[in-house]
Amino acid sequence: MKKHLYILSFASLLNATAQSEFDYKEFTKTMCSSEFHGRGYVNAGDSIAAQYIAAAFSKIGIKPIQSSYFQSFSFNVNTFPNEVSFKVNDEALQPGIDFISMPQSSGTWKNRSCTEIVYTPIYISGKDFIENYRYYLAKGKKNKILVVKNDTQSKDSSLNLHFLIEDYAKKHDVIEVVEDKFTWSVRQNAFDNLYLQIQKSALQNMASTDLFSIHIDQKLQNSHTSNNVIGIIPAKRKSKGSIMISAHYDHLGRFGNKTLFPGANDNASGVAMMLYLGQKFKTKPLRKTDIVLVAFAGEEIGLLGSKHLSEHPLFPLEKICFQLNLDIMGSGEKGITAVNGTLFKKQFRQLSNLNKRLKSVPNVKSRGRAANSDHHFFTEKGVPGFFIYTRGYNQNYHDVNDTFENLSFNSFENLSVLFDLFLRRL
Ligand SMILES: [Zn+2]
Repeated sequence: MKKHLYILSFASLLNATAQSEFDYKEFTKTMCSSEFHGRGYVNAGDSIAAQYIAAAFSKIGIKPIQSSYFQSFSFNVNTFPNEVSFKVNDEALQPGIDFISMPQSSGTWKNRSCTEIVYTPIYISGKDFIENYRYYLAKGKKNKILVVKNDTQSKDSSLNLHFLIEDYAKKHDVIEVVEDKFTWSVRQNAFDNLYLQIQKSALQNMASTDLFSIHIDQKLQNSHTSNNVIGIIPAKRKSKGSIMISAHYDHLGRFGNKTLFPGANDNASGVAMMLYLGQKFKTKPLRKTDIVLVAFAGEEIGLLGSKHLSEHPLFPLEKICFQLNLDIMGSGEKGITAVNGTLFKKQFRQLSNLNKRLKSVPNVKSRGRAANSDHHFFTEKGVPGFFIYTRGYNQNYHDVNDTFENLSFNSFENLSVLFDLFLRRL
């Protein structure tokens, strides 16, 4: 009986430890679930994610920096809720795989209501489009749609043609035919015209008798409110400054009601790393430095959350001794890259030497300044810091395949040890 009791209490102790341990995989998986709607703006997926992160802070014992975890700000965002469908001669294409709206596209509007429109495609080559651009721009016909094949040879000319098609979309409906996978994004503005991309493989005949039946629901949300989620682990003694660990939690959301962009690597994995590090610092806080954890909103739409915090800081920017901004933490087979590595040479040497000793990842590459994530506005204001992302085999980026199942988590724990030690030794 006594022995039995002992086993029972030992088991409950084990259970208690297991419960308090932050499960980074479970967290990432939940962030990518359909209930979070791709952490975008259809069905307020971003708010659901913000609440979930705040709950994780609270569970770990990380306190809000003011009375709440949230810092709100507003912006316009173009969304594609409800129906998105595209039929070629009555054959339905798959949204997100066969076709996609460009993020600044309008919907299929007729007399102020969103409806299916039947178009006759006019297929033209990229060469024809470039040579006769002015003619096509002046022409535009109702219920006919220009379908431009991006069939140019080099990457540069393909990009130039892409931008020319985008320019044309400001005046007329247009479809760009591409061969590479879609790389989606999100915009604050909307054109007045339909602007789609379609995979070449989804178009069988490209005959003048083809008919396209298209229905795209689109809504420009004015003054959508998002929240940065901010927590603090105070220093053990009187604090002399802070270290900011940040990661954006927003992603691209949904394209229609069936297609989800889960954003597992980008950047559920980075938020998971931020919280995993948070737990380490909560267990063993720094003596004289606060740890501030920031889950940024609105990164994908133009670094809006980090811009807002840098302009409305809740803790003194001049007392931040370092910012570690994390993105794409789900792989790492080929190493990591530190943006700003060439700017903050001493810290980069420390990180790189530490990695050589710990062998966390195969290598640490250094890059210069780049306005490509939430470190940017802080770097501009003189806050030293790195933006770190992993490099690996997972190439699913801004597409429907950036799923939890495609994450290797190859270097996740190794990296958490590397970052923890690096920050403690700054
Ligand atoms: Zn990202």
